[in-house]
Amino acid sequence: MKITTVETRLLRVPLQQRTITDSQSTVTDVEFLQVVLRTDEGITGYGMNWSYTPGLRAAQVAVDENYAPVLQDKDPAFRKAIVRECFFTNHFIGRVGATRVGLAAVEFALWDIACKQAGEPLWRYLGACRDRVKAYSTDGGWLTWSEQELVRDACALVERGFDAVKIKLGRPDPREDLRRVAAVRDAVGDEIDIMTDVNCAWTLATAMQYGRALADWDVKWLEEPMKPEDVAMHRELAHAITTPIAVGETLFTREAFRDYIAAGAVHYVQVDATKVLGIDEWLEIAALAACHNLPVVPHTNVQHKLHVQLAAATPNCVLVENCYESLNDMWEEPIEVQGGYYQLPELPGVGLRIRDDVVDRHRIG
Ligand SMILES: [Mg+2]
Repeated sequence: MKITTVETRLLRVPLQQRTITDSQSTVTDVEFLQVVLRTDEGITGYGMNWSYTPGLRAAQVAVDENYAPVLQDKDPAFRKAIVRECFFTNHFIGRVGATRVGLAAVEFALWDIACKQAGEPLWRYLGACRDRVKAYSTDGGWLTWSEQELVRDACALVERGFDAVKIKLGRPDPREDLRRVAAVRDAVGDEIDIMTDVNCAWTLATAMQYGRALADWDVKWLEEPMKPEDVAMHRELAHAITTPIAVGETLFTREAFRDYIAAGAVHYVQVDATKVLGIDEWLEIAALAACHNLPVVPHTNVQHKLHVQLAAATPNCVLVENCYESLNDMWEEPIEVQGGYYQLPELPGVGLRIRDDVVDRHRIG
């Protein structure tokens, strides 16, 4: 089999749902880069990547100008060799960031071809360890909501069958954060897991002072308390407070995960296949986490179908986020949470094909 054409499509899709706010962002649109690899045997591979902010055009240029010439006429079975060759076409200007995000989209398309050739969805192709995947809700808990809105939403999610919900922290006064956590705990009771997410807003001093108090409300984890580049700071925090630390959604390499794990600075490994170099590197990092007896809880917003399939095939991947539900029907085969669990998809492939009519309606490049 040979790759005959490489096509990229850039979309900007407006969100239909209510406000999405955290300590760093207010999200109104999501950009998508779709990569389409056609082959001489009629199998087409689809990959994609995403961003809340404009900028995926940089990833599109990398695919069009750097990776497409490498992919042309290659046998997609040589995925790992192809990805390595692509990586070195622009490593002077982008070993991480937009170029890597573009290359991950290519990598997903290569996996999609392999799965379709085998006639299996990704989770069956990898070998499954579970037939459904537990979900926790991050489609709420937004930072600008009032305490009442926060509580009402958390209770509604519990009504729907979720037994784990996440709320955003990082208000200007951290004491407000603690009051909001307390209000949600009081409302949902002791049987529901509450996760918290600071989106990197705190200093070490703030994290030490207020992170310690989260244990009073039995918080399951404290996510991205500080800037992700500083492993030593996270190690200090992890050793100072009892609430577990979760990081990974803004780490781009397996070496970054290795450093966090070696330092004892992470307890929940939130590796996202769209940020690292695709599925192969995700599996390596999940295996590294398993060697240290650490659970993997992949960061997910629009790419839950990919991570649900990886979770179904990864014993230490115990939970997947559910977010951006208003975008579910943009996918060729949407999956949903029922009674707190994701059902697994059955169409062959990786599952990142965006519906053609959605592409036509929202294409910007
Ligand atoms: Mg997060």
